Formats: sequence, structure tokens, C-alpha cells
Amino acid sequence: MGAQPGGWNANKREAARTGAVPWRNNPLYKAARLFVLNRDHWTCQMGLDGCVRKANTVHHKGGVSDANLCDTNVMVAACKPCNTREGRPGMRDPAPVRRTQWMSMEIS
Ligand SMILES: [Zn+2]
Repeated sequence: MGAQPGGWNANKREAARTGAVPWRNNPLYKAARLFVLNRDHWTCQMGLDGCVRKANTVHHKGGVSDANLCDTNVMVAACKPCNTREGRPGMRDPAPVRRTQWMSMEIS
């Protein structure tokens, strides 16, 4: 995709110093983000608790990294509440667990 190796890392170092969030300002990322939002009709694809439906952020399924930052295949449109929720695993509600009989076996 023509990105300069090390460019983002250099930006990250700069960001660590300045407190900015560089990848959000990356032109490639901006283009990918816009593509995903348009593809998903600016509608949140996550639908978690607190979802407001209108997406203005994108979420990277499985987490964001330098490698997939602009990979539209792993990006979905997300509203801010969903993206914030998903972005902090500790804040996520655990999936409902069905307690079936195999859970109740006793150790004798
Ligand atoms: Zn949502």
C-alpha cells in the first residue's frame, strides 16, 4: 500500500511525547475509515448495550495493530458507545453462560 516502514512508529514516538493520537490522523487510515463508514451506511454494526446506531467511528475486529490499521476487511462501522465498550475488555458484559448438566458433575 506504499506506506513508509517505520513512519507510523516514528509518529507513535512523537505522539508518546506530545500525547497526540497519530494513527487517527494517518491519511490512509482516514480513507479506510471513511470507506468503511460508507460501506456500512454509517450504521453501527456492533449493536452492544448502549448502542446509538449512528456510527461515526470504526472498530477493528480482534483489535487494532499497525498491520491491520487500514484493513477494511476487519473494520466495521461502530457508534462511539459500542466502540468504547468493545475497546475495554474489562467493561464488557460476560456472555450469558448456559449452565448445563456437564457443569454440575461432582468430583468424588
Ligand atoms: Zn453501536
